[in-house]
Amino acid sequence: AKPAGRHFHKHPQLQTPLTLADFEAINRCEKPLPKNFNFAADVLDQWSQKEKSGERPANPALWWVNGKGDEVKWSFQELGSLSRKAANVLTKPCGLQRGDRVAVILPRIPEWWLINVACIRTGLVFMPGTTQLTRKDILYRLQASKAKCIVASEEVAPAVDSIVSECPNLKTKLLVSPDRWDGWLNFQELLPLASEEHSCVETGSQEPMAIYFTSGTTGSPKMAQHSQSSLGIGYALCGRYWLDLTPSDIMWNMSDTGWIKAAIGSVFSTWLQGACVFVHRMAQFDTDTFLDTLTTYPITTLCSAPTVYRMLVQKDLKRYQFKRLRHCLTGGEPLNPEVLEQWKVQTGLELYEGYGQTEVGIICANCKGQEIKPGSMGKGVVPYDVQIIDESGNVLPPGKEGEIALRLESTRPFCFFSEYVDNPEKTAATIRRNFYVTGDRGVMDNDGYFWFVGRADDVIISSGYRIGPFEVESALIEHPAVVESAVVSSPDPIRGEVVKAFIVLAAPFKSSNREKLIAELQDHVKNSTAPYKYPRKVEFVQELPKTITGKIKRNVLRDQEWGRA
Ligand code: ATP
Ligand code: MG
Repeated sequence: AKPAGRHFHKHPQLQTPLTLADFEAINRCEKPLPKNFNFAADVLDQWSQKEKSGERPANPALWWVNGKGDEVKWSFQELGSLSRKAANVLTKPCGLQRGDRVAVILPRIPEWWLINVACIRTGLVFMPGTTQLTRKDILYRLQASKAKCIVASEEVAPAVDSIVSECPNLKTKLLVSPDRWDGWLNFQELLPLASEEHSCVETGSQEPMAIYFTSGTTGSPKMAQHSQSSLGIGYALCGRYWLDLTPSDIMWNMSDTGWIKAAIGSVFSTWLQGACVFVHRMAQFDTDTFLDTLTTYPITTLCSAPTVYRMLVQKDLKRYQFKRLRHCLTGGEPLNPEVLEQWKVQTGLELYEGYGQTEVGIICANCKGQEIKPGSMGKGVVPYDVQIIDESGNVLPPGKEGEIALRLESTRPFCFFSEYVDNPEKTAATIRRNFYVTGDRGVMDNDGYFWFVGRADDVIISSGYRIGPFEVESALIEHPAVVESAVVSSPDPIRGEVVKAFIVLAAPFKSSNREKLIAELQDHVKNSTAPYKYPRKVEFVQELPKTITGKIKRNVLRDQEWGRA
């Protein structure tokens, strides 16, 4: 229980436990960052206490299902004792030490959460990766990070074994599977044998906690290193104002374990606010399973990529009665206003978009209670000062397009990544004068809302006009024939480059007359945006190239157009 009349001291962690209010105040820069911080001790174990004393409503900390009747529900106390055992597995049989890097390549299984928390308890730096990584991807990650240990499931174990001889730093392989595997320690076997006694290391606030690989939308993924506090404290306000979470909420964030969105939505924001993390194992996205899950479980809060909502609005959603859903979120890619509109008409719910990056977390968001302007990413989130700047680092006025950037004060914000590991050039290239540059282009309006134009390298320049792909894609998707599209530049002898749209057609339009349909779509874009933006070239495709996170890879289509494939 919280002692009465406590004050904030210089090193509060030595006096009394920090509270959620303290973490929020640190985010607002109203309180200094404590010298030491550990998410397991300072957040999770505090919720355990509140659970014991009845200060937290009965709501699991983790609720996992697999759609086949298996279910796991852990309270914060159970998560606490299991993760202490897991911590002992990592330090004892696995022989790992504080600061060692651990690649964690697991599907959405409860053990992923255990291993994460166990790494935090022992000061190990975890590096999540998706099980869809190929042998080559895994080799790149293990070599680039000099990982000491890999934790993997049977999906990727053979791939790991085929490259392990090329990874001299790798000492331990830990398998999470009911089956045994030669050369691998077995987590399921070791966990029950491990002691529950473990004292959490006292990590420094700025000590490395995790390395997240960027999505690799524009090339090789970069290794963004985050500190204990950047992830562990930095998402407190995001949890309250964007995700709108309380300890009674149940949050279903669908992203794969390998990306920072899983850290934001399925670990840090949610647990900082004491809410329940809901997980569906779902190996592959499937709309029926998805809709069944929302009608069966009392999920209150949903976060998914725009591509999922684009698929869903193709369905007759009015037929489904969601059990308790009240707040929906999206991010990772721009959300077309048409999709937002259809989601609202069909479900009666708004869609709150957020914009962020692996490197710096959430930058802009439509927070609960704030008016939503369809097509906008919302306003800059506290504590970031988001601005639109030009090539020389000057702030541009509202209405002018430029690069989205974050103003830096004398010290780097604590919620920033610390660096791209072993890549000082790339790390330095993110800074322009006193700004961090995102590499994305956008516009701020007079009310302080940000509008995404495109990744800097996706913007098309045709006859001297700059054209952002997102606006054209959003115009196209308004037409009933279009499920989704990708707009890129294509060479043209006169104009230099022109707009080309790759379009996935809705089923009823697949047999339409192509010539007529192209003309109709072009007219539609001319009428709904400035006419010079219309796609002069159109190609119908079965599907679009996407990253594992579901983002459209415009660079692949662009390279194809320019013969650089
Ligand atoms: P890489 O940096 O390796 O090329 P990536 O930038 O896709 O990959 P992430 O950090 O996962 O890696 O994604 C951040 C980027 O995703 C942003 O810089 C932006 O381009 C895009 N993004 C995220 N959210 C939104 C959004 N709401 N609207 C538009 N774009 C978004
Ligand atoms: Mg990026």
